[in-house]
Amino acid sequence: MKKTNPHFILNKYFGYKSFRPGQLKIINNILDKKDSLSILPTGGGKSICFQIPGLIFSGITLVISPLVSLMKDQVDNLNSKDIRSCYLSGLLSKSQTNTTYDLIKLNKFKFIYIAPERLKSKRFIKVISKIYISLIVIDEAHCISQWGDSFRPIYKQITNLTKQFINCPIAAFTATANKKVQTDICNSLNLINPYIYYQSFKRTNLDIEIINCHNQTIKNISLIRIIKEHQNEIGIIYCSTRKTTKKLHDFLNLFNIDSSFYHAGLDKEKKQNIQVSFSTGHKKLIIATNAFGMGIDVSNIRYVIHYQIPSNIENYYQEIGRAGRDNQPSYCYALYSKNDEKIQYQLLKTNKEKIEDFESLKLIFKSNQCRTKGILKYFGEKSIDCKNCDYCKKIRYKSQLMIHISNHEIEFLRKLLVIKKNNLNLSRKFPITDTLLIYIALINPRDIKQFISIPGIGLGFINVWYTPIQQILAWKWYNTFLVLIHVRE
Ligand SMILES: [Zn+2]
Repeated sequence: MKKTNPHFILNKYFGYKSFRPGQLKIINNILDKKDSLSILPTGGGKSICFQIPGLIFSGITLVISPLVSLMKDQVDNLNSKDIRSCYLSGLLSKSQTNTTYDLIKLNKFKFIYIAPERLKSKRFIKVISKIYISLIVIDEAHCISQWGDSFRPIYKQITNLTKQFINCPIAAFTATANKKVQTDICNSLNLINPYIYYQSFKRTNLDIEIINCHNQTIKNISLIRIIKEHQNEIGIIYCSTRKTTKKLHDFLNLFNIDSSFYHAGLDKEKKQNIQVSFSTGHKKLIIATNAFGMGIDVSNIRYVIHYQIPSNIENYYQEIGRAGRDNQPSYCYALYSKNDEKIQYQLLKTNKEKIEDFESLKLIFKSNQCRTKGILKYFGEKSIDCKNCDYCKKIRYKSQLMIHISNHEIEFLRKLLVIKKNNLNLSRKFPITDTLLIYIALINPRDIKQFISIPGIGLGFINVWYTPIQQILAWKWYNTFLVLIHVRE
């Protein structure tokens, strides 16, 4: 085996014996100096596809990525394998940047990672025109397409670069691109007769469940239930507005559920801290807008909850795709409500294209057929029923909820309350519905603050009923009942 053999390098530097599906094809096309666009689902082993040809080529590989934290991870990783690499980003101090430039000029690196913003720097362009670049890699290539949600105007700078290095192969990667976006990427990057690799988007280890929530109470009950089912596991809750992330964080706090919230409006340091504590496993639950996740490399995320529905299928699939990258069974829940539709329409305003995209998603969420099949169809793939979505498993969350807290038990609790009420000599009818009973049982509220946070319970209710409720809560039978419920969980 020689140094120029991909298998040899795979084994020597990465410790694997064989390639994953598609990797070798992509590598061989790059080695033939063909332009390429690879659409690989997140976690599909993308970096090996360009790092191996980069090691085989005699020159330097330039990697353009918008994900600063991922960039740093990859560079650290390569350096730990004795592959000299560097990155240029705002994270470096002035003197670190100067040293890096000096070393680049001396040809000390095999891989140079940059954020697209760097392409505006005259200093950078001058320096790279004097070194031998044999491969240009463009990560998250869909950011160049104006069709997608993730369009970044700065990506247009890459066009100038590809014109400057006309003889250098370009390898573009993305985890999400339908046909329209694929064509747009190829045109925008001036890819010449590119090799396009498309790996199936099917993820067999993801259970998809769309939960129809008729009102906010059902939604919050479902949320608490799901989090309890996944206690001590790692999860993300996605919301569509920044405001909701904070609100939900405060709500969960009331019930002693530990979480952090994350959105693009937080200051840089806070965002970094949250990312680090999630990546290291210190924080297990993050409530976030779609700003969170890009560049997060946590393989054992066990569940993703969409508390509000996302704006299109690509975002939805990318977000749930963060679960179960270790290929272990993982769960994706969407809490769907009419009110969320309204929020999305407000966010999308009158943008016709985006409204169409949203309606494609709505169709899948509301349809009576396999969810996975609908999603794959959107990406242009044909498939059979998946066997692991709520439609295929013929479950509806509401009935599941009833299994855990049966009608029998509700009846039991109701009777207890009636007996207690009589003992308390209450004259009025106790205004407690089944939903409220389930809520109380699930949440186990212990003070006014927790009680008032339950949708449907207002100050008027508290004024009249809090004292008797408090007495009921202090009653030992009630505690026994709660213990019963928790044991069943
Ligand atoms: Zn299915």
